[in-house]
Amino acid sequence: IFAGMTILFSAIGLLVSRWMSKRALEPVEIAYNLQREFVSNASHELRTPLSVILSAAEALGMENDKSNPFREKMLGTLKHEVKRMSGLITELLALAKSDSEQKSLKLRKEQFDIRPAAEQMVESFTNAIRTKGLSLKLDAPVPIEVVGDRDKLIQLMYILTDNAIKYTSAGGHVEIKLKKQNHKKHDDFIFSVSDTGIGISLEDQKKVFERFYRADKTRSRKEGGYGLGLSIAQSIAEAHGGAIEVESVPDRGSVFSVKISFEPEAVQQARTTEASV
Ligand code: ADP
Repeated sequence: IFAGMTILFSAIGLLVSRWMSKRALEPVEIAYNLQREFVSNASHELRTPLSVILSAAEALGMENDKSNPFREKMLGTLKHEVKRMSGLITELLALAKSDSEQKSLKLRKEQFDIRPAAEQMVESFTNAIRTKGLSLKLDAPVPIEVVGDRDKLIQLMYILTDNAIKYTSAGGHVEIKLKKQNHKKHDDFIFSVSDTGIGISLEDQKKVFERFYRADKTRSRKEGGYGLGLSIAQSIAEAHGGAIEVESVPDRGSVFSVKISFEPEAVQQARTTEASV
């Protein structure tokens, strides 16, 4: 009887403490949601005045007489900083969005061949590659059918490729690989970007996916990022049930790889939905 009572009391104790901790967490969750909503709304609201400032600065620049170098320089700075701030706000907005979507899993999934998007991306980066004196190779020999949110997967590819270009100096090489592995019960989509750039120390490799974290501050800062790209990339991969990994050797280069698995039935289902539309 004594042993039975002990078990009963500890079970009740456990239930009560679970219930209490759940209740205690509720206000935290509400506050967290409010904060995320605020970031999302604020980013949106801030973009409008910024684009007005930018077009005003551009208009002033057009009728500016070139004989006043100080004015010219100040206008240049104004435009540059407004553009930088718009970039930050866009990233914040994407982050707030991907955060909430990851939580409620609001992905617009479809089945599609991701290879043309990768080819288009390489096309868009051609200028940056040429200007920086890099070489770039896309290794995607066959069509790659995936199931996922098209826009978000493309964004993920852009983030990793953009970083590889940013953190590799003249003469370096960037390689993008897309492949699919078929297993018995699922398919894996593997996307990787390798570069021969500045690399990331072992200690920093653990932190680069954190928001606003930037490894080598002096070198990274020159590139004008905000330390948000990789955390957005990670939330996109995780929202798809996948993961993102980094392997890197300082001064040698880095490889970022994403693996997303999906079940063949998901492919089948997406195909049927597509067909019935
Ligand atoms: P951002 O590039 O805007 O600073 P990210 O979140 O994309 O932000 O990356 C975080 C940090 O990780 C960067 O500041 C940089 O220090 C490091 N990093 C990311 N990608 C690479 C890369 N391919 N090579 C070297 N360092 C990188």
